[in-house]
Amino acid sequence: MPDLPDTAADESDFLLVDPPALRAHLEAHLADQSGRVRVTGTLDRRLILVERLDGRWVIADLSGEPHNTRNWPTRLTGHLALDEHDSWLTLADLDDAAAHYFTRPAVTIAALYHPETFPLPRFPLGISDLARAARTTLLGEVRLLDMQLGVTMADLVKDLVDNAPDILGISATFGQHDLLLELLDTAYQLPTPPLVVAGGSLTVRNEALLLDQYPDLLIARGAGEATIQDVLAHWHGELEREAIQGIGYTGAARGGGMQLARRRTATVPNRNQTDILPELDLLPATFAHDGVAQLECSRGCKSACSFCPRGHKGQWSGAEPASLPWMLGEMSRIFDRFPGTSRTIYSVDEEFMGGGPDAVTRALDLAHMFHDAGFNWETSCRIEQVYHPDHDLDWHFERAAMWRKLTELGLRRCLFGVESGVDSILTRFNKDTSAEQNALAIRTLSALGVSTRLTYITFDPLMTLAELEATHAFQGRTDLLLNPLPHLAVEEIVEGVRDPDFVAEHATGRPLHSGISYMLVSMECLVGAAYTKMAEQAGLTGAARPSMGRVDSRYLDPRIGEASTAAQLWIDRSFPLDYTLKSLEKVLDGQPRHSVRAARTVLKDSAYTVLTGMLHEITSTPPADGTDQLAAGIASMLDREFEHLRAVVGPEVHTLTATLPSRHAERLRNQHDRWTNSDGWQLINAADPCGT
Ligand code: SF4
Repeated sequence: MPDLPDTAADESDFLLVDPPALRAHLEAHLADQSGRVRVTGTLDRRLILVERLDGRWVIADLSGEPHNTRNWPTRLTGHLALDEHDSWLTLADLDDAAAHYFTRPAVTIAALYHPETFPLPRFPLGISDLARAARTTLLGEVRLLDMQLGVTMADLVKDLVDNAPDILGISATFGQHDLLLELLDTAYQLPTPPLVVAGGSLTVRNEALLLDQYPDLLIARGAGEATIQDVLAHWHGELEREAIQGIGYTGAARGGGMQLARRRTATVPNRNQTDILPELDLLPATFAHDGVAQLECSRGCKSACSFCPRGHKGQWSGAEPASLPWMLGEMSRIFDRFPGTSRTIYSVDEEFMGGGPDAVTRALDLAHMFHDAGFNWETSCRIEQVYHPDHDLDWHFERAAMWRKLTELGLRRCLFGVESGVDSILTRFNKDTSAEQNALAIRTLSALGVSTRLTYITFDPLMTLAELEATHAFQGRTDLLLNPLPHLAVEEIVEGVRDPDFVAEHATGRPLHSGISYMLVSMECLVGAAYTKMAEQAGLTGAARPSMGRVDSRYLDPRIGEASTAAQLWIDRSFPLDYTLKSLEKVLDGQPRHSVRAARTVLKDSAYTVLTGMLHEITSTPPADGTDQLAAGIASMLDREFEHLRAVVGPEVHTLTATLPSRHAERLRNQHDRWTNSDGWQLINAADPCGT
């Protein structure tokens, strides 16, 4: 074999994470000195097969593990004969059937995205998990395309036409209905349409609509890993369509005949999906686009929030900590090539801790792994993992010590779904928490020095004016965020947060809303959520919006409905700017990160002023006057506050951009220009019950 030039060696990290690129590179490099080339297997067990000119094959397992430690698919029996089973490198005989298995089907998996709504990318975990599942089978070749990473819809369409994949996987979430339809139309107009399987929160909630329009489409309904593996086998004729796990499809109606009906196969619950690691093909491109690294340490949660339509509620499963170090090592190598990127990994858990007697040990083990690999990390957790009224003091001491330790081990921030500080609302949300519990947990976390993002639902259709007033009061409380107290023992903190004198002594004086991630959020009635049924029973629901996965709803108190609508307009006008700031905060470290946080606090302060103004308008408008006058009053209050905000944010952004690296400064300047030149109130759309 000819030597590789140095430039290729420099890029070897990236080639190893991208099998199609590695195959193309080897083909170009070996040129006429070899026959066919195949690259398959997952990143931890990447397999290279090169056909020699004499017809024999060289097979290398890049992990260095001997071939006999691999679980070879039975379909290869009789088609593949290795000379040396106990080596990672061997000569072998492959027949054409085996060579075919390793390259077909050609699978393209595309993730859709509206860049104008979400300016900075996140590593696409969903499609990267699917790639890993597909590569585990050693069938075919998987390519990943993500519209977050510079791929336009025109590129996707061209790619589809030029490469004519055998299987097209599409991942689509809310707000991407238009993109999904465009891609499906293109796919089904090809001379030989691929087998198309679409998944993601949008498709699951629009199953009927999509299957009516595209009868050949398969909808992935559960954890996609098992589905994609079955789809590959189905393409090879090994499985009937009816046997593919977790799909919705159009098939013959039960009882036979010519009629077609929508059918479903059993889904694989997330908790049964033990391998939740991704392939890393797109991590370099994510960093090149200033995006952030994501990983999962768990799936699901033990909760059953009434507003959440997710199917995994009440089911939690944790990743095996032992599988993490090699993955972090691979990610670390890619991070090394982007020295300006914050070495932070976002663990997109709904509930990091989970339950069980080993929860604390597992959390600390994971934290040590992140720390030992040189990473900071962020995650999400439930508030009862900090303060739980059913547990004794010793439990709270252990938890407090754990949270302090997690912070020492690089936990940069943790999201907590507080959602409300009003008991009646928490009951309606089925949060299984109380206002007092939330207050004590927030005090404990701040005193322990745990940096938090708190999510909070300010408006919901069933709320009363008294509840809105209580919400406003809770968000304005200045006795919840305490100063970090590293000099105090955890026992003193756990007991102190219940003591008014201790709280008065250590409170920062900052209102709670400065710690709330997104202010003025309204509850969305999502299709399939228990809350939506409550709203329906109260006669508050209207038309379904399948493309957004939600149902229109009115408010029990129309005045609060007016406030909620105005609040959404307020959020949406500033969303791209706020999201840009939030994304910058994620990729920065040190002082620039703190400056970005400070700029976001200005936006939050003004949102609280808006909430105060709304309450004033509501309480000073007699209910008998209807809502027209109220709406007009709120609208002019929004205009006034926006003018004020524009005047405050301008200098803030100007100062900030001077301290940021130029590419970040330019991105922020662009978003700020768009924001400052915006001249109206318009809604955009996004829905994520967990706010992650
Ligand atoms: S909103 Fe989050 S915490 Fe609540 S049930 Fe859904 S996934 Fe679980």
